[in-house]
Amino acid sequence: MMDFTGKVALVTGGASGIGEAATRAFAAAGAKVAFTYISSGAEANALEKDIKAAGGQALAIKADLTREDEVEAAFAAAVRAYGTLDVLFANAGGILDRKSTAESDPDLWNRTFDVNVMTTYLACRAAAKIMAEKRSGAIVTMSSQAAMSGGGPGAMHYAASKGAILTYTRGLANELGPLGIRVNGVAPGLIATRFHVQFNTPEGRRQTVDTTPLRREGTAEDVANLVLFLASDKASFITGETVQINGGRGMY
Ligand code: NAD
Repeated sequence: MMDFTGKVALVTGGASGIGEAATRAFAAAGAKVAFTYISSGAEANALEKDIKAAGGQALAIKADLTREDEVEAAFAAAVRAYGTLDVLFANAGGILDRKSTAESDPDLWNRTFDVNVMTTYLACRAAAKIMAEKRSGAIVTMSSQAAMSGGGPGAMHYAASKGAILTYTRGLANELGPLGIRVNGVAPGLIATRFHVQFNTPEGRRQTVDTTPLRREGTAEDVANLVLFLASDKASFITGETVQINGGRGMY
């Protein structure tokens, strides 16, 4: 078990899916966890209460992370509550819609890059400023298997945005390494969250499982375990790496 006692973590999009699993895991490992949500206020409040009832520390912060002012305010609220920031999991993102290139339009392209790349960049920038001052910290970004494969049907805009995150992760690791800050990413395959209820079909999910060596979908907890490892001191010589977690389907 990774130990984050005394550490402060911030998880973006931390009230649902993979983010929620990471928020719970950081809290269970002893961290004080701030997590952002955008629309799921009831889920966020319930999660905060749940963690506190179990003796942990958690703070739900509402923020649209495509907006610079809201990102700055969210990080300021976390620092106000907990004094500092040791870990960022820049998890927020999504696919928004499936469209072929011919059917798509610049608005979908831009919104997809906003929700994935802009949210990641702004969160990493806010974290880097805090972490650079104390010359320590760990950032974990959220890429996807789509970054390597090009994405499923109608998802190339999403895949391209996740590719940008993977490359940004490397660049940021170069920049922040000398300041004592590690930057890594995770690139999940099919993880059973609402993402696939919304943007996949039962048949599509079955086909993926049938062609996955481990013959199952991943869970949000599978990814959270990896995120905690990368954010922990156990990974102290790992930076610039984006780790695939996909049951063996697509060994890139
Ligand atoms: P999810 O829909 O539960 O999580 C997405 C999160 O991003 C939500 O909490 C949402 O509130 C947040 N978010 C979206 N737009 C936002 C904005 N403008 N500002 C702030 N927050 C915003 O689904 P999930 O599967 O847990 O996805 C989490 C991340 O994992 C996403 O980046 C997704 O692309 C990535 N991912 C998921 C899978 C999968 O199979 N589920 C695979 C690879 C990558």
